[in-house]
Amino acid sequence: MSYRSNLSVSLRDLNERELFCDTSLILVTLADLFMKKLVDGILEFRKNLRPTYRKLFSELALGQSPYALFIGCSDSRVAVNVFASTDPGDLFVSRNVGNLVPAYQEDESPNLGNAVAATMEFALHNLKVADIIICGHSECGAMHALIEGREKIKTPNLSAWLSHGESGLVKLGSFNSKLSKQNELSQINVLEQIEHLKTYPIVRERIKTGTLKIHGWWFDLKTADVYALNAKLNRFELFNEELVNRSYS
Ligand SMILES: [Zn+2]
Repeated sequence: MSYRSNLSVSLRDLNERELFCDTSLILVTLADLFMKKLVDGILEFRKNLRPTYRKLFSELALGQSPYALFIGCSDSRVAVNVFASTDPGDLFVSRNVGNLVPAYQEDESPNLGNAVAATMEFALHNLKVADIIICGHSECGAMHALIEGREKIKTPNLSAWLSHGESGLVKLGSFNSKLSKQNELSQINVLEQIEHLKTYPIVRERIKTGTLKIHGWWFDLKTADVYALNAKLNRFELFNEELVNRSYS
């Protein structure tokens, strides 16, 4: 039985046994159950997986040399380590709500809150990364919130942050009308954020010297398929052997 099945059994038990208790107790118990899943995972790693990874981690302790910078959504379902079969040390990662990149502001001093820019600068300047991936995904809550209207968001920082994704809204209906509005916007958003990335002097310089490539990916949650942006055709194509042979060999 999976942990999720076990958890749902536990929740049913809890509902039956704690029917008359107060809600805060149920929430605390639920939080304990979720944390138990994580700490069980650490024990599982120590027992069964650590020997396999020990050599790799001891090498990585000497320094990292990741293949690419991955900018993705914070959404827990966007599991790049699973769908791209990556190992520790493969990717330098920046994740945020909506996989957004604030555009460079010429007339402002460096923005204290722009963690994406700081991560990108470290990846390019210190780690000499030559590829940046911006990855959107289907069923993205940030895209849904943008379509609904930022004014409906009650939390001020989230509302302000999503302003970096608003530029794609006017292109809805013209990019891939076969998709739902939410999913079409998440694809458009990848292109918009690539353009934001190109506003940074360090990115422009690297592109000019041919030492940086920017890639757009899109992860479809329902099928677990990954799509690559074909910039020439202005559309996303399924990552399969034909595409990989055509584009990466
Ligand atoms: Zn998302």
